[in-house]
Amino acid sequence: MSAVLNELLACSPYELSQAEKERVFMPALREAALWHYQASPEFKKICQGKNFDPAQEFEIIDLPYIPVPIFKKFDLRSVPDLEIIKTLYSSGTSGNPSKVFIDQATADAQGKALTKILTSFLGKERRHFLIFDSPNSVSSRSGELSSRGTAIRGILTMAKRFTFLLDDELKLDQEKLEKTLNELNPEKPVCFFGFTWLIYNVYLQYAKQLAEALSKVKNSDTVILHIGGWKKLQDRAVSKAQFNQDLSTTFALPKSSVIDFYGMTEQLGTVYPDCSAGHKHAPAYAEIIIRNPETLLTQPNNQLGFIQLVSPIPHSYPGISILSEDMGILLGTDDCPCGRKGKYFEFKKRSEGAEVKGCGDALDL
Ligand SMILES: [Zn+2]
Repeated sequence: MSAVLNELLACSPYELSQAEKERVFMPALREAALWHYQASPEFKKICQGKNFDPAQEFEIIDLPYIPVPIFKKFDLRSVPDLEIIKTLYSSGTSGNPSKVFIDQATADAQGKALTKILTSFLGKERRHFLIFDSPNSVSSRSGELSSRGTAIRGILTMAKRFTFLLDDELKLDQEKLEKTLNELNPEKPVCFFGFTWLIYNVYLQYAKQLAEALSKVKNSDTVILHIGGWKKLQDRAVSKAQFNQDLSTTFALPKSSVIDFYGMTEQLGTVYPDCSAGHKHAPAYAEIIIRNPETLLTQPNNQLGFIQLVSPIPHSYPGISILSEDMGILLGTDDCPCGRKGKYFEFKKRSEGAEVKGCGDALDL
């Protein structure tokens, strides 16, 4: 890992003010931009198309972005094939999934960022993770992993131990749940984890049994971390507020213990959990920019737009600046009531089908 990236990853994720953060973030980002410019012909082409030269001084907003559909159409790599240790596949809602190629350096940096971010929410002590998924979800075929498997494996590195609560048909294994809860040490908070839609499916089928079993979990620091897949809940017309309410009632936990977190396969490691004020924060290792859906210019605070994610962490593929198809709004900088510094935002929706404008011309190969 390079010295400037190492220095950045040594920072605590949310203690630096925006100005302090940029002093350590920009050197790492400039170095990463230079690296991908020379290592990835596709990234170089996009930069040249925007008259962008990473050898010149630049600001975060000047760095060209790769629209996320490009990862579906091309195999983007910045290192030789031999150095790739795993290939990740995103959950494409339509058409091909994104392919993301990871080398050891990228995996190490991602792991470091993920640990630091989740420690801020779960505390330093490792927890027992109870996972609403089947053990099958993390089995891979020849180094290829689904996005669900990828996310779960990433989170398992944070766990002291873990238990899968669903069977292969994704039904709740009630016996296993009972047994696991009976054996818990009431002094130690646990972490329930799973995909949002899957947790909600289980809740719909087993609300009563869950509530009964979970009444034994007495530790008030227990949290429910859930990730991704609001689309499937929107189809059921379940709002995030309703979801949080239903889960906090069933699990007998405060609503602030139900933590939604946002992340992308194209930038693993830097995840965005909800803080106690219900906001998502850009950690020291990444930056969020909101772009107008029509003009793609940067939006002022409180205006809806596409979420752009910038991070110097990707080394083996040029994913340092990605324009997602997700929509969000920036809320403020350095002044969230939860005390975390830096920019904070709200995730609004996955804009299914609304392709980012102009992405087709971005890389005309
Ligand atoms: Zn906050």
